[in-house]
Amino acid sequence: MKSVINPATEEAIEELELAGPEELNAAVEAAKTAWPKWRDVSISDRARLLRRLAGLIEDDAEHLARLETRNVGKPISDSRAEVAMVADVFHFYAGAIDKHYGETIPVEGGVDFTFREPLGVVGLITPWNFPMNIASWKLGPALACGNTVVLKPAEITPLTAMRLAGLALEAEIPEGVLNVVVGPGSVVGKTLVEHPDVAKIAFTGSTEVGRSIMKGAAGTIKRVTLELGGKSANVVFADADLDKAAGSAPIAVFGNAGQDCCARSRILVETSVFDTFVDRLINETKKITVGDPESESTQMGPLVSAQQRDTVASYVDGEAAWQGEAPSGRGYWFPPTILAPVSNDDRVAREEVFGPVVAVIPFHDEAEAIELANDTPYGLSGSVWSKDGAKALRVTRRIDSGVISINSNTSVRVSTPFGGFKQSGFGRELGMHALDGYSEVKNVYMSTEA
Ligand code: NAD
Repeated sequence: MKSVINPATEEAIEELELAGPEELNAAVEAAKTAWPKWRDVSISDRARLLRRLAGLIEDDAEHLARLETRNVGKPISDSRAEVAMVADVFHFYAGAIDKHYGETIPVEGGVDFTFREPLGVVGLITPWNFPMNIASWKLGPALACGNTVVLKPAEITPLTAMRLAGLALEAEIPEGVLNVVVGPGSVVGKTLVEHPDVAKIAFTGSTEVGRSIMKGAAGTIKRVTLELGGKSANVVFADADLDKAAGSAPIAVFGNAGQDCCARSRILVETSVFDTFVDRLINETKKITVGDPESESTQMGPLVSAQQRDTVASYVDGEAAWQGEAPSGRGYWFPPTILAPVSNDDRVAREEVFGPVVAVIPFHDEAEAIELANDTPYGLSGSVWSKDGAKALRVTRRIDSGVISINSNTSVRVSTPFGGFKQSGFGRELGMHALDGYSEVKNVYMSTEA
């Protein structure tokens, strides 16, 4: 038995029997059996079922949000926004699937056209930081395309994924189409990755585990998409609206207690405004309410586990430019921490901290800003702040990253592609692009000769 823990109180909220390879194999078998029927459900019926699921999620929103907050420790207002996004994701793919067009290609002697065919059984492996959201980013396009799935959530935060599977059955999505197996990644996840009846693995998690998944998938030439770590740069030029840039920077790194692959955990600031910016950043960060995630006004909760808290603490060994306060006593708390000035060569600027710690790094000019932003193995997200639109776009084009915002610190929208460059992975989630990752192109030539 495994206790599922509330990270704000360290109390067990549920006891679970963890699955092993046998249960995983049974889930793959169920998905394999369900696949031909699900593939043949008409597109409009598939869309109707996904819409029904979205509706049930909306009806169950408060319960799902509470469950996510108790399991992950994220503020209740964040969990509510995430549940709303999950419903939107299913609505989006219900509407998108009949717009995932093929092509007709001019050829001689006949016609040539393409179909998008489902892959079969798809394995989805998700992390603990946005359990319900990231599951939906994979489930929406996978199911819409006509695949069946086996979802393996992170074993410390499995509750909302389990609830989603229950809601899918209530929506009358047939049994076997959406299977959830909760078990250790090194056993159950690995079995899923190597399973001969699984056509693809869509993984979100650390770059280290992503590497082992690529290797494990090679044996059966599985399709793989990987959404991995990040060390995103928030580039602030002297000609930026500094109030706006400093005003949105704290939540961009301390949101979800910094446990966000898109966290702008390196803020690069032009030297002429460095001190001014750091002062404003400190003043803005002081406004963040840290505490009980179930309180309506909380903006930052605890970290997910004692292990995560200890890892984060290991990055703060010297004096911080500023460190806030966090509750003492039970719970895995760590205060918001600003380190400045930091060199891009320091460990805290090179590794993904995955906690509420930001490194502020000075730069002299446009060329150095680009060089520092790219001096990382990652390339997931980032921001560029400047009132000079041409410069902002020039710099944006030169930063090797899958997602960048200009004069904003946002990263994710239901209708736009999300994913990484470099060691942040490959493949895109969300938007129409995700549908390509859950289908194969089939080219058909038909002779029209008499
Ligand atoms: P993790 O890599 O430790 O685990 C992710 C999932 O993989 C879990 O379900 C885990 O049980 C499973 N797993 C572990 N070992 C496995 C193996 N050998 N074979 C198959 N599955 C295995 O990641 P985490 O600690 O849960 O999440 C944090 C990481 O996720 C961070 O690096 C973060 O940047 C990344 N992340 C990326 C994105 C993105 O979209 N790029 C989003 C969220 C989180």
